Amino acid sequence: MLAGMSLLPFGKLPPFAPREFVPAEVNLGDWSQLAPLFDQLEARAAKAVTVAEFERWLLAWGELSAALDEESSRRYIAMTCHTDSAEAKRAYLEYVEKVEPELKPREFKLSQLFLAHPCRAQLPEARYEVLDRDVCVEVELFRQENVPLETEESKLGQQYQELSGSLTVTFRGEERTLPQMAKHLEEPDRALRQEAWELVAERRLVEAEKFEEYFDQMAALRERIAANAGFANYRGFAFRQLGRFDYTAEDCLAFHAAVESEIMPVVREIQAARRGQLKLATLRPWDLEVDPLNRAPLKPFANVPDMVARTQRIFDGLDGGLAGGFRQMQDLQLLDLENRKGKAPGGYQCSLNESRLPFIFMNAVGVQRDVETMLHEAGHAFHALATRDEPVYPYRHAPIEFCEVASMSMELLGNENLEEFYPAAEANRARITHLEGIVKFFPWMATVDAFQHWIYTHPGHTRAERTAAWLALMDRFGGTVDWSGHERVRENLWHRQLHIFLHPFYYVEYGIAQLGALQVWANSRRDHAKALKEYQAALALGGSRPLPELFQAAGARLEFTAATIRPLMELVKAELRRLAAV
Ligand SMILES: [Zn+2]
Repeated sequence: MLAGMSLLPFGKLPPFAPREFVPAEVNLGDWSQLAPLFDQLEARAAKAVTVAEFERWLLAWGELSAALDEESSRRYIAMTCHTDSAEAKRAYLEYVEKVEPELKPREFKLSQLFLAHPCRAQLPEARYEVLDRDVCVEVELFRQENVPLETEESKLGQQYQELSGSLTVTFRGEERTLPQMAKHLEEPDRALRQEAWELVAERRLVEAEKFEEYFDQMAALRERIAANAGFANYRGFAFRQLGRFDYTAEDCLAFHAAVESEIMPVVREIQAARRGQLKLATLRPWDLEVDPLNRAPLKPFANVPDMVARTQRIFDGLDGGLAGGFRQMQDLQLLDLENRKGKAPGGYQCSLNESRLPFIFMNAVGVQRDVETMLHEAGHAFHALATRDEPVYPYRHAPIEFCEVASMSMELLGNENLEEFYPAAEANRARITHLEGIVKFFPWMATVDAFQHWIYTHPGHTRAERTAAWLALMDRFGGTVDWSGHERVRENLWHRQLHIFLHPFYYVEYGIAQLGALQVWANSRRDHAKALKEYQAALALGGSRPLPELFQAAGARLEFTAATIRPLMELVKAELRRLAAV
């Protein structure tokens, strides 16, 4: 038992089911106790001669994986809830450094045994096709010679994060981190906004050369990794590695074009309205976050218990099952929501995979953004609860493109009952901000994604060529913002997007999911009960079916074309007009 476990917000959780393979008293943080379990699994694979035995072997493997994953989650939760605890940090790092590296080759060995097993071909196809193709890709892409290259890649990623995280500016005599400066972009005083924006932008520019250098090295490494695995370029490799079985690079390029034709006109309309409301001749980069009517920030709740109670009422109004799930999370203390000293920043939902229960972490301070985060993370939690009865461990998680449909839909559906937090006029103001945020995200998503398509299909490009490609995308997707005098900032804007450095090609998922969520929301406008039933049915599928079927079960289509996007933008525009008029 981990000594720092008292640092967890929750106590002993009810076990979902008694363990059948993993011994009850095993120390999941001690590799010497875990290695024999992997030995046993390998031996059992050899002994399984019937399909039923082979399936039981898969379940035993899943039971061990879930227990190990929960151990890692518990240590992560304890650390993020107590960043000031040396014990929590030590326990987490011990797991990452001592257990995980041992685990990976053993898990890989089990994947190989699965693929080579004589019973594999007799597994019921409809039930196991998703699992099978995922394991295939894992084994197919592995190259021993890529292991050191991937280590180098993650070191560069760390350097990027260290540099980004270390940047500070001196603002009004005080040293501030760049995230701390973000709030000044919401100040009604335009000169102050400009000062804050320029300070941050100039600070990043000082490091531009280093960011370029890190990226050059990363891109070169990635080309070698792809070539070693037999791919013509890194894009082909990345698509396979990310498990993109159901859409292609060409589909993504078509998505970018559809954003340009269907969403950019709405973005320009929103920007024109903002410019008018702010009474400005041109919209500058520091004019994009401030409330366009200079109103004071919304105050949705007094304290965290108040936020939880109001959120509960939103779910009570939405659906009995969802409401019960959120209540259960409160009863089991699976929420740590208030901002306090000694807590890591941000918010996340994390599944405790053996207990099959979700946990939500947040830093609520009393702003509207907290309400959005609460609904979003609750959507993820509902997804985890919906898959509890799925025995096949990998199927208790959906692909990220659909996980975010669960959370983003809940933002839109929950927002329908925002009157639990505000009088009508303020609720509408929050809805407008939320919908505009959705619209404005698409062009940035398209820019970030299209840029990476260009980068990895132009191996050996020069920095000047890369900058030109970025600027062409800023022209396509930048809208009407006036950057004059800050051309170098515009050229280097991508340096701030962590995904480009750390998680190549992982970004379009959010655009794909948002299209799914908008479709769920559109359905709810036509038939609320039916849309909610479909939403829950799709969540319950977990990751057991391919992506197009998950979308279909939710009453949506996995499609990124102008024909899919146009009616969704019509709905958003109509809703924005309606909300502005009341
Ligand atoms: Zn999310």
